[in-house]
Amino acid sequence: MANPVWHSLAGQHAVIQQLSHPETMTSPTHAWLFTGPPGSGRSMAARAFAQTLQCEQQEISQRGCGTCQACVTIAAGTHADVNIVTTEKVQYAIDDVRELVSDAHDRPSTGRWRIIIIEDADRMTERATNVLLKAIEEPPERTIWMLSAPSPADVLVTIRSRTRHINLVIPAVEDVAQLLVGRDGIEAELAHTCARASQSHVGVARWLARSPEARERRDMIVNLPMTVSSASAAVESADNLHKLVQDEAEASSSDRNAAERSSLLRSLGLTEDDTVPPKLRVHFRRLEDNQTARNRRAIHDALDRAMIDLSGVYRDLLVLHLSQDTQLINEHLRPHLTEYSAKVSAEHCLSSLEAINTARRRLAGNVPPLLALEAMLLAFIPRTRRHAPL
Ligand SMILES: [Zn+2]
Repeated sequence: MANPVWHSLAGQHAVIQQLSHPETMTSPTHAWLFTGPPGSGRSMAARAFAQTLQCEQQEISQRGCGTCQACVTIAAGTHADVNIVTTEKVQYAIDDVRELVSDAHDRPSTGRWRIIIIEDADRMTERATNVLLKAIEEPPERTIWMLSAPSPADVLVTIRSRTRHINLVIPAVEDVAQLLVGRDGIEAELAHTCARASQSHVGVARWLARSPEARERRDMIVNLPMTVSSASAAVESADNLHKLVQDEAEASSSDRNAAERSSLLRSLGLTEDDTVPPKLRVHFRRLEDNQTARNRRAIHDALDRAMIDLSGVYRDLLVLHLSQDTQLINEHLRPHLTEYSAKVSAEHCLSSLEAINTARRRLAGNVPPLLALEAMLLAFIPRTRRHAPL
């Protein structure tokens, strides 16, 4: 059984074994690259590894206890020698990286190592990556870098060749469901539904399991393909989809935005009812700028998620064409999907998947979302079958 800090990592037995090996823990490589599909837990793996490296237990086999001061502060993101950097913008700026590189030269204050975890290293511009590369090439003795990205292909080859690679797999639905039951106290059937619907994305599964509204929005999105039968319906659905995505993004960031504003007010000695004095307004402007950047990213992520959910619908329809025994991503909508699958051909499902991929490419290329979504939904209209001429 792995030590407590590893318990939140679903279905990654090989990775845990590799990282909790005594040799790895006593003389770790100074640069690591954690890869794995979104939601597989690559950032969590890096944090758990940082915990085992800094844990205060004397016995190596006990490290990663989850309860000592080091383990607790790393989990909370407040350990003095562990910087966890995550971008809430769509990309890291070069100055963000310069600051990190300068921090990397500080000796650890209380821990064994200075550890810098960079989440989403694929969101770094090439110039920013080159600044980082220099730091990784000439590492200070007690500094360890941990980068994470979806796949090795997402970082420059020069970074790849200087880091030790840890690859996380897509966890099994069962592993994700068990984690939701054991860690978050979710009821078993709901945990399974959400684990499947999220396609084993741990964070999304948890969000769905905890928010009935998020589940409802998701169901509305996956039902869209089954309701478009005309061009006007497609245009209307595109509009609905766009709104649902914005609502989802809003729901995922609004609580946090409000909490940040209250805590800023408190730290400046103000209450919700006070008017902010002009000389303090700069603090609020800065907070609002950060929140705007984060909202943009939330919309980007929600759009991406919607595309994955829509692909799941066509994948399910294809599965239903082939066999009735395979589990569906949207198992909870099986009767509805079965009925619809009788009306559309496998070719139509394939061309719809193609249309989703095209839309994703267009969205990444900064085409206005509504336009890309309209084109995609128009492709979802099933062609009426014509009788072959006699
Ligand atoms: Zn510990």
